[in-house]
Amino acid sequence: MFNGLFSKKTKVYKHIFFDLDRTLWDFDQNIVDALRDVFFDFSLDSVFPDVNTFINTFTRHNDYLWEKYRLGELKKDVLRYKRFELTLKDYGVNEPLVVKKISDEYIRITPLKTALVPHTREVLEYLRSKYKLHIITNGFDEVQFPKLVKCHIADYFDKVVTSETSGYHKPCPEAFGYSLSSVNAKKEESIMIGDDLEIDIVGAKKFGIDQIYFNRYSTPHKAKPTHEIKDLIEIKRIL
Ligand SMILES: [Mg+2]
Repeated sequence: MFNGLFSKKTKVYKHIFFDLDRTLWDFDQNIVDALRDVFFDFSLDSVFPDVNTFINTFTRHNDYLWEKYRLGELKKDVLRYKRFELTLKDYGVNEPLVVKKISDEYIRITPLKTALVPHTREVLEYLRSKYKLHIITNGFDEVQFPKLVKCHIADYFDKVVTSETSGYHKPCPEAFGYSLSSVNAKKEESIMIGDDLEIDIVGAKKFGIDQIYFNRYSTPHKAKPTHEIKDLIEIKRIL
């Protein structure tokens, strides 16, 4: 409660900008939940020895293909199918139609999964009476909005800006600029909270706003964010 009195520069924040995936919406847990559903819905227990083998095989191919996608060597719509195609091929199944069905179902159900990062709701509840809350997320409207609605956290936010809406991906400064202008927020009264050091934190810093780095797994780094936390609950001590 004395933070304001003793901090070197007293900032009065009015706007809190959150990242969504892996900051509030538990991306990794939700992916596992979606893969489990797919495994049982498509009776993949007749193909793989167990569900964890399926998840691990998928993860290995998915990570590899995402890297190729990032390097521009693979299109996204190819990635969607290829990761399941390779996963099934490893266990002797070569059925393009099944691959397509599984891929489409996985894409459909993942944004409907509702695991939140621990303390999400408690922190949002605490912040909502003191600040205006917003989201800046890299992603498509049709994927990101259902996540908020299904988890019943959409009402906490005044403004949700996806990269599809703004036309800019974090860490590009325009992504932050678009969001701040859309709610008439000044830089000095804004703070960004996110789990990705480059995309959320270094991006926000370069744009010129304060940051809280949510470093859930205490990954070592050399950046100097304004604040760093490993549990969302620590936000209550900062804000
Ligand atoms: Mg994130």
